[in-house]
Amino acid sequence: AVVFFGCSQKVIAPMNAFSGTSILDKKVDSVLKLMTLEEKVGQLNQYNGFWEITGPTPKEGQAAKKYNDLKKGLVGSMLNVKGVKDIKALQKIAVEETRLGIPLIFGFDVIHGYKTISPIPLAEAASWDLEAIKKSAEVAAEEASAVGLNWTFAPMVDVARDARWGRVMEGAGEDPFLGSKIAVARVQGFQGQDLSANNTILACAKHFAGYAFAEAGRDYNTVDVSESILQNIILPPFKAAADAGVRTFMNSFNELNGIPATGSKYLQRDILKGDWKFDGFIVSDWGSINEMIAHGYAKDSKQAAEIAINAGSDMDMESNAYVEHLVALVHEGKVEERLIDDAARRILKVKFELGLFDNPYKYCDETHETETVGKPAFQEAVLDIAKKSIVLLKNDNDLLPLKKSGQKIAVIGALANDKTSPLGSWRIAADDNTAISVLEGMQKYKGNTIAYKKGADVATGRTQFVWETKINEDDKSEFAAAIAVAKDADVVVMVLGEHGLQTGEGRSRTDIGLPGVQQELLEEIYKVNKNIVLVLNNGRPLALPWAAENIPAIVEAWQLGTQSGNAIAQVLYGDYNPSGKLPMTFPRNVGQLPMYYNYKNTGRPVMNEPESVFWSHYIDEKNTPQFAFGFGLSYSKFEYSNLKLSSDTFAKSGKITVSVQVKNASKVAGKEVVQLYIRDIIGSVTRPVKELKGFEMVELQAGEMKEVRFEIDQKTITYYTANNVWEAESGDFNVFVGGSSDKTLEANFTFTNK
Ligand code: BGC
Repeated sequence: AVVFFGCSQKVIAPMNAFSGTSILDKKVDSVLKLMTLEEKVGQLNQYNGFWEITGPTPKEGQAAKKYNDLKKGLVGSMLNVKGVKDIKALQKIAVEETRLGIPLIFGFDVIHGYKTISPIPLAEAASWDLEAIKKSAEVAAEEASAVGLNWTFAPMVDVARDARWGRVMEGAGEDPFLGSKIAVARVQGFQGQDLSANNTILACAKHFAGYAFAEAGRDYNTVDVSESILQNIILPPFKAAADAGVRTFMNSFNELNGIPATGSKYLQRDILKGDWKFDGFIVSDWGSINEMIAHGYAKDSKQAAEIAINAGSDMDMESNAYVEHLVALVHEGKVEERLIDDAARRILKVKFELGLFDNPYKYCDETHETETVGKPAFQEAVLDIAKKSIVLLKNDNDLLPLKKSGQKIAVIGALANDKTSPLGSWRIAADDNTAISVLEGMQKYKGNTIAYKKGADVATGRTQFVWETKINEDDKSEFAAAIAVAKDADVVVMVLGEHGLQTGEGRSRTDIGLPGVQQELLEEIYKVNKNIVLVLNNGRPLALPWAAENIPAIVEAWQLGTQSGNAIAQVLYGDYNPSGKLPMTFPRNVGQLPMYYNYKNTGRPVMNEPESVFWSHYIDEKNTPQFAFGFGLSYSKFEYSNLKLSSDTFAKSGKITVSVQVKNASKVAGKEVVQLYIRDIIGSVTRPVKELKGFEMVELQAGEMKEVRFEIDQKTITYYTANNVWEAESGDFNVFVGGSSDKTLEANFTFTNK
């Protein structure tokens, strides 16, 4: 009997070759057996797409080299190829023209949607709604798979504590617990139940590891952290993604404690492939193998390839190092061939799981592409998550919601009428000008008169990859016109913040206030009309002390994607009652960074009002944040009472139940994210003052009260201790429950580890 594996039918293996290990492993081995060393190395090579693939055949330069390598079977994967037509053309070469006809995997940064754009991941995290987040990833997977893609470089699960870092927009914020839950939701959303279906794609947990801990928030900078921070803060979301079955990981540009992550055997072989038994594959970050030369860790590309493969990086993204040097390195005895086999085996296995050997064109259907991209159901899903991502930060005197008729509203700010900025960073396939602007969303409510003036511009990059702004950010020539409409209005809605391309990769900032002259504009408008609703559009926490003090209503609306303006208008007019909570601390001042709620005390406890110079504090700023992690208001008012523990002590195999009553003491129905934190008072390693350990979304009608329960067991209090193991230590603990990390009820329990 003979089994054919798909496409080319060139890869043939006798049935009886399959005994011992799993069928899948046997299939993989049957392919591997037929491969030359060169072909195996080819599987580890990933090239950036050359766009003219369906045009004339490239004759020279890089594109020609890639093209020839592809024909020789020296390419395993490509990234950044867009659309069924191009993907099909490339797949056809791999399948029909190479000796073994092994299909390619096509990767792309589908970070928050392909063409239909969801909120930036940080915004989605503010929803704390795992179902909605999963749904958003499902939509992205369905749309991306319809254009021929089978792999996204998402989710980014880096826990980020420094808002200066431009890539905080891509993650789930500062908390490892919330980050882990969201990592799982996203992996499940992208990969679905069945990877061989044609509407699911591979997910990729990145950047392994430590990337967000770049010193001073400057992208790509040095990372030096303790083992305790690595294990307790950085790694948990990666572990959660691995446990949820993520099939690929991406390593990272940064060095971690002196070793570039790409060359780190500790991270890749010991932790990920060893302790965690990860059996998918690891792709390098873009060119990160060769970047080990500049790091001062490899003398040339050849040595970089040697270090990377030995450390466990399976696939080389755009360094050209593997395809150029691995064969020679094996012949010279510097790299064992079994390591090449292992990496190739991992990649082939995933190709089988995707079903590409059965049908390499399963993602390549033009009709399906046309019918799927941008379809109405996607629009509904991204609108839903966009509304849920909005966080109401301030609402004095119930200025919001706006009345639906009879009001004169001035809408001010360049971002109010911007149809590109809401798409945020990392939406490389979506066209400019495809988002609904705030102004457009508001104009659908016909009962009011709206006057719009830009007031001041916001700088933008040309594209995700090119920072080139032609805008004069200092121009105040349009202030006067804006002031005039503000004077005449009942309410002023100011949409200010960062343009979508002021965050993302390579977009770190030292100043996290409002860019350009927007702050000045805000203060000028305030002089003529104090009824201001400030709608913030931004990809990172901002420090806005003046606004927090003076502006009566502040709505954090991030960059919310294609349906941005509709979502914001529904919240402003009260058709949607905001329920988001901050997934990252908003500082008062950039100088407080890195700032996070789960900090540690010092020997001189971190007080809010310093009593003398010898407390841990600044002489010119408070210790508290402007808006705390977990904070977010609603048009409802929630009251917490009756925090109770089922017992104030438990032992190893036991557990306790925490219950609290939450009441909606208002006249509007609403949703509240009830949060559970603990504090381990004494540890073998000093412990944070608070750690999130559970959350629950409750919906409450006007006047309704519900009891919310959480369970605490040994797992809840387990951490990576001074013994370098995960364990629960006996001792006393505080429990905190509330609607924000800084506003909680408190109880206590004792745990005995026996
Ligand atoms: C980024 C990755 C991304 C890759 C491919 C790199 O610059 O760090 O997150 O997936 O490019 O576009």
